[in-house]
This record gives sequence, structure tokens and C-alpha cells, in this order.
Amino acid sequence: MTVAAPTPAAIDWTAVRADFPVLTREVHGKPLIYFDSANTGQKPNAVIETVDDFYRRHNANVSRAVHTLGTEATEAYEGARAKLARFLNVRGDELVLCSGTTFAINLVAYSWALPRLKPGDAIVLTRMEHHANIVPWQLVAQRTGATIKVAELDELGRLDLAQLYSLLTPEVKLLALTHVSNVLGTVNPVREICREARKRGIATLVDGSQAAPHRALDIAAIGCDFYALTGHKMSGPTGTGALWARREHLDAMPPFIGGGEMIKEVRFEGTVFADGPRRFEAGTPNIAGFAGLGAAVDYLGALGMDNIEAREQALLERFTAALGEVPGLRIFGTAPDKAAVVSFLVEGAHAHDLATLLDLEGVAIRSGHHCAHPLMQHFGVPATCRASLAYYNTFEEIDAFVAALNKVRTLLA
Ligand code: PLP
Repeated sequence: MTVAAPTPAAIDWTAVRADFPVLTREVHGKPLIYFDSANTGQKPNAVIETVDDFYRRHNANVSRAVHTLGTEATEAYEGARAKLARFLNVRGDELVLCSGTTFAINLVAYSWALPRLKPGDAIVLTRMEHHANIVPWQLVAQRTGATIKVAELDELGRLDLAQLYSLLTPEVKLLALTHVSNVLGTVNPVREICREARKRGIATLVDGSQAAPHRALDIAAIGCDFYALTGHKMSGPTGTGALWARREHLDAMPPFIGGGEMIKEVRFEGTVFADGPRRFEAGTPNIAGFAGLGAAVDYLGALGMDNIEAREQALLERFTAALGEVPGLRIFGTAPDKAAVVSFLVEGAHAHDLATLLDLEGVAIRSGHHCAHPLMQHFGVPATCRASLAYYNTFEEIDAFVAALNKVRTLLA
């Protein structure tokens, strides 16, 4: 029997929030308002207890021991792969488990792009990429002689699709773009974009760091060649993540890092590498972390990603309206399709000063360049404040945030 995911009204979001122990704490004597989930997500008890239980009851290495604990550790690790594969609608034998998006993109850069690209080839990136989806390509370009072209934004902070498609010329071998901007919240139409790239024979890598925590994903339907994500933004532990790659690419890619676990046979005359994802999983992985990521995927799945998206959209709507009432506040990125990430500046106040004073009010937001220098250059500012919400936040927190912001704003004016 298939059990339908609950509808938004049927979810007791207060009870959901109570699953997150850190959200009960105080900061500087004030209740914590955690609006920094784009940076890292908070973890529910189910995840914390799974990691704790792994070390208390099951701790052993994976795939190396036939004893009971070894089998349990392998089951936890492989179980996470299977759960994540179902969550993303992909095959487990196409999913490389790794430390996060940064590793995943570097894996594609070094194993797929480096051996392929040559002088005259080009890589297309977008103005809104995180440094993790810029710097690896610059390193590849330096070593191969390939060049980098940049897709620009419109005034709402969306990709200018006509300009992007005009860049997809025959010398382009890869288009690497984010699914959701970590600064603007803009949701890119990756399905359409990947289709256009594919028509032209261009491979696509989608950085899903900011999409996977917030909406139902169907990677098979997106039609990309590579999809990277990071577990700690999905209510899972830090140091966990994954790269999905089409099996044809995985089979053709040489290993990135060598060591134990990624081989079939080692001889001094030469080594035969393991097939599929394991070829890229050298050494002892973050087993407890992946056990926790499995629990996080279960947790998100039980809430239902559509419900999470609806909840976060309701929070975003209220938040945007409330910020609209704050004098001198400018929001960066106003695309109609947007995740609950709001970058802003308040006239006369430096982003870091605002964030520092807000911390004294118990409010956690991020200030700075958000690992997106080229986007800051586009807007002509060195830094912004970024408030990013998740399903465990509340409407009351939004009201308290705006009151705190108005208070610190007048202090800085
Ligand atoms: N890409 C985007 C869009 C991100 O927001 C982040 C993290 O902030 C990353 C990549 C890097 O993720 P990680 O540090 O987990 O590897």
C-alpha cells in the first residue's frame, strides 16, 4: 500500500520544530532565530540519534570485515546510498557517495573534464555560481587551455536564457550551473536548460546544493549528466554528499583518488579498479555521517518534499512582505520562482555590522560574499546579509526577526 504524503495543513509544524534540539537554545539571552539554513541546515533528533547509535552500537568499517558489526556498518552505508537514490529518482549504482558538493564537482573536474578538454574548448558557467562551481573549472581551464564563458542575469536575478543559449556554441563541452542560487534564491529552469545543452551535444553539471533540501527532485527528469549535492544542507551530517553521474560517464572516468576500497585487484604490475561508484570512494568513508544522512532522507521523505516546499514558500511570502516594510531595505534577487533565501542590504549599514548586532538579538544570519564574488561584482557590492529559512522556522520568528532588524537598523543609522 502506498501511503500518501500528508498535506501541508495536516502537518503539525510545531511538533516538527520540536524535533530540532538546537532550536530551543538561547543566544545572548534571547531565543535563537536560526535563519542561516542555506549555510548549513539544523538536524532533527532522528539524525542525531542515528549518528550516536552508530558509534554506540555498530561502529566498524565498511566492506572490510565479515563480522556482525562490519556487516551492520556496511548496511548503514549502503542503505544510505539506496535511500538517497530513491529520494533523487536515480540508480544507486550511479551515485557516488562523497563529502559534499565541493568534492563532487572536483571529481567531475578532475576525472571527466581534465582528460577530455583541450585548447579551443570552452566551459559555460553562470554569474550566480558558488565558488565551488567556479574554481574547479578555472583549474581545469588553466591545465587544459580551455576557456570559460559566463551566462549573465536579468534585473530580477534570473538567468538571461537567450544570452545563455547564445553561448552554447560548438566548442562548449560542458555547462555547469546551479539549480538554486545560494544568494538570490533563484530557481533555474534546469530541465529546459539541460535539454537545450543536450540538443547541442553539451554535457551538463547541475549543482543541487540549494535545491535538494527544499523541493522534490527527479534527477532522471532533469536530464543532466551530473548532479552534485551536499548532505549537511538537507538536515543531514556535515561531510556527507553525493555525485550522481550517468553510468556511461562513471564507466569512462578514471579514478580521482586512489587507495583502499576502490580496487578489484592490486598488483605491482598494475591495478584493476572497482566498477561504478566505488571506484571513486577510496578510503574509509564517513560511515556514521552517511547513516545519519539515511535518517535525514527518511525524515524529509516522511514530511514530503512538496509539503516542505509549500511550507517554505509560505514563510518566504510572509518574510518578503515584512521586509518590504523596513525602510531603506533592498532585496537582491526577486525572481518569481525562488527558494526561501533572501539577500538584502539596509541603507547606511554594513552587512557585517547588521549581522553582528542581530546576533546580539539571538538572530543567526550570514553576511559576506557567500562564496559568490562574481555575483557581488555584478551588483557592485562587497557583501550582503542573507537570511535563509527552512521548514522548521516559524511565522513568529519572522515577526521577531523584523523587530530585531528595525532595532539594530536604528542603532546604525
Ligand atoms: N554550491 C552551492 C550553491 C552552495 O550553496 C554550497 C554551500 O554553501 C556549495 C556549493 C558547497 O557545498 P559544500 O561546502 O557542502 O561542499
